[in-house]
Amino acid sequence: MKKILNYINGELSPSNTNTYLDNYDPSRGMVYSQIPDSDEKDVERAFKAANAAFPKWSKLPKEKRSAYLLKIAELIEENLEELSRAESKDNGKTIQLAKSVDIPRAAANFRFYGTGILHYAAHAHEMEELAINYTLRHPLGVVGCISPWNLPLYLFSWKIAPALAAGCTVVAKPSEVTPMSAFLLSEICIKAGLPPGVLNIVHGLGSKAGNAIVAHPGIKAISFTGGTKTGAHIASVAAPQFKKLSLELGGKNPNIIFADCNYEKMLSTTLHSSFSNQGQICLCGSRIFVERPIYEKFKNDFVERTSKLKVGSPESSDSKIGAVVSESHMEKILSYVELAKKEGGSVLCGGKRMILEGEFENGYYIEPTIIEGLSYDCRTNQEEIFGPVVTLTPFDTEEDVLHWANSVIYGLAASVWTENTSRAHRIANELHTGIVWVNCWMLRDLRTPFGGVKSSGVGREGGFEAFDFFTEPKNVCIKYN
Ligand code: NAD
Repeated sequence: MKKILNYINGELSPSNTNTYLDNYDPSRGMVYSQIPDSDEKDVERAFKAANAAFPKWSKLPKEKRSAYLLKIAELIEENLEELSRAESKDNGKTIQLAKSVDIPRAAANFRFYGTGILHYAAHAHEMEELAINYTLRHPLGVVGCISPWNLPLYLFSWKIAPALAAGCTVVAKPSEVTPMSAFLLSEICIKAGLPPGVLNIVHGLGSKAGNAIVAHPGIKAISFTGGTKTGAHIASVAAPQFKKLSLELGGKNPNIIFADCNYEKMLSTTLHSSFSNQGQICLCGSRIFVERPIYEKFKNDFVERTSKLKVGSPESSDSKIGAVVSESHMEKILSYVELAKKEGGSVLCGGKRMILEGEFENGYYIEPTIIEGLSYDCRTNQEEIFGPVVTLTPFDTEEDVLHWANSVIYGLAASVWTENTSRAHRIANELHTGIVWVNCWMLRDLRTPFGGVKSSGVGREGGFEAFDFFTEPKNVCIKYN
């Protein structure tokens, strides 16, 4: 069975205890590899390597740091096929999705930040005839990057790339549920000749290896993406040490559809925004609000189109929906369908586990599920489910739909569908979210600020915001004469 290894000080090695955790292929429901069960001693070793590498890496001309990142991007693209297969097997997402979205985006992250750093500049503030202020931005030092299982390499690289480009050295931990593409990335970094200790990847449990990264007094900042509860715990450990924190957390995103929308575009995009990656994207629109005049038509068309989405092996090119990530996550999603029924909801389609044939019979598959008849404030409509489950609610007024959309503790993203431009501006302005998409979904310009408000997180990633995070500003004020 394949054994994944830690990547510390430029070398692949087991954990200090030489113990392993099982890693599952969710499409078959079986263990297929093992990962190091690392602890604080492994994190300490990774920290020491990162700390020793920092002076040289941070002083390397940015053009040279950029060249390493561009080389990594190139190698990711060269290994598109292998990485996509690995990501799919580890996560349950279709190979098709990994190949068209996850892996190309991981390469794009390295390329974007590898070139972005060449354009990053600090500010100067002149006090007329009196003084000049200029701001230096120095890399923080050793930083920690911790990522979730839903978009494994995509989100792992989204943190690592800006940290490295900014001149920080990194101790990173991918999710223990989907460690494989991070392991392959460590092999790519070795091939790219990245100097030892610049990037260190420690595998293992969040409560052990993850916690040791967050608690380590020498690690200056934590960039974390994951669940809101974990984010709160991380903040409680990191804040007393005054670490910089970037927290990208859960969501319960509204998809607001007005009767005057471009109906066909809206319908096909809403299928994606509801069920892409089995609904396991933090940006998926899980609460669909539809203006009353088109509610019945939308409901019928949406149910018909959803019922046709093929749930199948992630390896098959005609599968649109693969497996959800784990057995426990499948149980959690199904328990929410039961809760929705208890809360008075009607399941219009899906709602059950699906058993495939042959080698995939033990895989974790769920039919895409649409539920209606729930109040906006019931638990099903307030809590993050993070699976292929959406609710439909008709609305009559802008006031109602805004109140319902903003009623959750989360505030990550929202979609609005209307051809009325004034209304689009008005609604976008009133939504309590960090991101609003009008007549589209998940259309990403990597320069834009990415992140949420309320319990969806603190801080922003993307563009120069990420460089601001991984650097410390220092103002120098020089008086004339
Ligand atoms: P999770 O919080 O369980 O785990 C995320 C990462 O944190 C994993 O690497 C895990 O090992 C680690 N971790 C767990 N406990 C830790 C601890 N005590 N100390 C340090 N690290 C710890 O989240 P998940 O289940 O992997 O991912 C799903 C969640 O991520 C969902 O809530 C989803 O909305 C959220 N998410 C948010 C965004 C965003 O950009 N806002 C993007 C993707 C996913």
